[in-house]
Amino acid sequence: MNKIIDSHCHLNFPEFKGKLDEIVKRALEKGVCRMLTISTKLNEINELESISKSYSEVYNSVGVHPHECKNYKDLSLKDLIKHTKNSKCIGIGESGLDFYYENSPKELQIKLFKIHIEAARETNLPLIVHTRKADIQTIQILSDEMKRGAFPGLIHCFSTSKELAEKAINLGFYISLSGIITFNKSNELRNIVKDLPLEKLLVETDAPYLAPEPYRGKCNEPSYVIHTAKILADLKNVKLDIIADQTTQNFNRLFNL
Ligand SMILES: [Zn+2]
Ligand SMILES: [Zn+2]
Repeated sequence: MNKIIDSHCHLNFPEFKGKLDEIVKRALEKGVCRMLTISTKLNEINELESISKSYSEVYNSVGVHPHECKNYKDLSLKDLIKHTKNSKCIGIGESGLDFYYENSPKELQIKLFKIHIEAARETNLPLIVHTRKADIQTIQILSDEMKRGAFPGLIHCFSTSKELAEKAINLGFYISLSGIITFNKSNELRNIVKDLPLEKLLVETDAPYLAPEPYRGKCNEPSYVIHTAKILADLKNVKLDIIADQTTQNFNRLFNL
């Protein structure tokens, strides 16, 4: 098995407490050579930094998840950028819009999304976008902001419309696929993914959430990213090694590694 990368996981979450050594070991045994552990709020950055410092294969991002915006009303560009200074911090996010749960007011989500975009532009670190039930607004903001100055990024856990994927790719973004593409009911999504350009795709677990088949409903972990890659290989009608190689190259290109 060739090397593969989990572009999005949450290794500091309580599900992994005390188990990280074995989880990282299992991932490495399955060929997962890099993992990006994602920030959802600023008061977990110390934890994330200590994890990415402890494991050479693990990197971290810095950002505030749309659910958490309500606790960071006064977030400043400076606050965000300050935390990018450690050498294992390679991305900004996850940030974006979640109008499905709407755990934070929409206007506040939009305000913080724009601050994260500014941070990505200023640091040239890719923006990791979370979007749910907000495709139109997300694309509108990304397009408008791109005109004011380019910035790199990706749509994580892509699971919606072809239009979102195509427009994001046109803006230079990458699309990251999660275990959702392995679910039985995801026929429509698989049909969309089949036609997306392989050189723009990444794979992720979003662990501990969204375990792929055959582990659906269980606690997800980075080693399971292989199952998402296998389905992608079927859809693209290529060998798993091709998917592993290509998504690894894509990740390293996007994140400048
Ligand atoms: Zn997310
Ligand atoms: Zn996430």
